[in-house]
Amino acid sequence: MTDDPADTLDTATTDPGTLVGRIDRDETIELLQELVRIRSPYFEEEAITEFVYDWLDSRGHDPEYHPVSEPDITGFEGNNVLARLAGTDPDAPTLLLNAHMDTVEIVEAWDEDPLSGRIEDGKLYGQGACDMKGGLAGIMVAFDVLAATDVDLAGDLLFSAVVDEEGPYGLGANQLVRDEITDECDAAIVTEPGPILAQTTIENPALLLGARGRFLYDITVTGEAAHGSQPQKGTNAVVDAGRLADALAAMDVGTHEKLGDGSVCPIEIEGGGETLSVPESCRLLADRHVVIGETEDVVRADAERVVADLDLDSDVQIDFRDAPAPDVRYGPYVTDADDPLVNALSSGVETVTDDDPAIGYFSSVGDFNYFGHRADLPTVIVGPDGENIHGAGEFVHTDDVVAVARIVTAGCVSLLG
Ligand SMILES: [Zn+2]
Repeated sequence: MTDDPADTLDTATTDPGTLVGRIDRDETIELLQELVRIRSPYFEEEAITEFVYDWLDSRGHDPEYHPVSEPDITGFEGNNVLARLAGTDPDAPTLLLNAHMDTVEIVEAWDEDPLSGRIEDGKLYGQGACDMKGGLAGIMVAFDVLAATDVDLAGDLLFSAVVDEEGPYGLGANQLVRDEITDECDAAIVTEPGPILAQTTIENPALLLGARGRFLYDITVTGEAAHGSQPQKGTNAVVDAGRLADALAAMDVGTHEKLGDGSVCPIEIEGGGETLSVPESCRLLADRHVVIGETEDVVRADAERVVADLDLDSDVQIDFRDAPAPDVRYGPYVTDADDPLVNALSSGVETVTDDDPAIGYFSSVGDFNYFGHRADLPTVIVGPDGENIHGAGEFVHTDDVVAVARIVTAGCVSLLG
């Protein structure tokens, strides 16, 4: 905090150990509790957006609302919250610190208040506690410490708390790319939960240096109606869609030495009705997680090959889910293990834990794909671990939250100092 007596000293410090010591455990966890107690499913982030803005404002960090608008598909209007720390050297890198403020819809199966922020045995419970209010609290307190008047970083630091990560298009992060804010940046840290969503089994402290990408097949199967008592006279679109779903789930997909294997998961099938008719149409949605090299053309050709091999009587039209713009998609990326950002965070981990970080890769997609793939920034995920993400009983380990705040602080100093 800027009114800390230590901040009024004349000598500037960029000593990671000193700054890490300024991350106060109790203050960090109390902030996390406040964040968890604010209901904030995606598209309903107004209250938490105001809270984050006010918190930064009350500490003199001059935050700004960054408008997010998507009129065509979702009609969403909201705001990201940004804050900037200007470095002393225009040639030094600019680092983006990112967390999302929204959660999934609150799951009904909770057997306690899903917004309690209750702490027991070092676990803090609540919807979004791990994904990712723990990481949000972490970058808030890290930014606060780095903004102290006696800290002189050479590079710029850009704090971004974004909306709608859990929604269908990552609209908050998309707006950072769309408005060319990511063009000002040289690297990105995202404090999403790490090890629990890694492709391989790892434990914190961990750095995740990449993520798979994602497409969503939107497939229309068109058969031919007939009376349901004489199915041989028609072409059953539901049956053919079922066969196609089965074949897609079993098809060969790509693999990558770091990101692991791609995957396919049919997730929705809809068609036919109660009328005694051979169903003439059916829609099939199938998730496809991809690795580097599996472009849209490749992914489309794969599905077309599956369709051709099945030799269905129905017509099959393969499309992808609508997006607000053609570039709004989750592409895979890998950040070089020798990148200065990775070195900086590794030394941050060492400062805080006396350990080397485990290295992993994220199994699914998120805002980090927009930074790592679309904006082509070296992007690293370092976040607290927990359990039951997106489910009832979600919790985050409080020790991890404090450690992440400290690792980010030390990593920022190491990269920008
Ligand atoms: Zn998340």
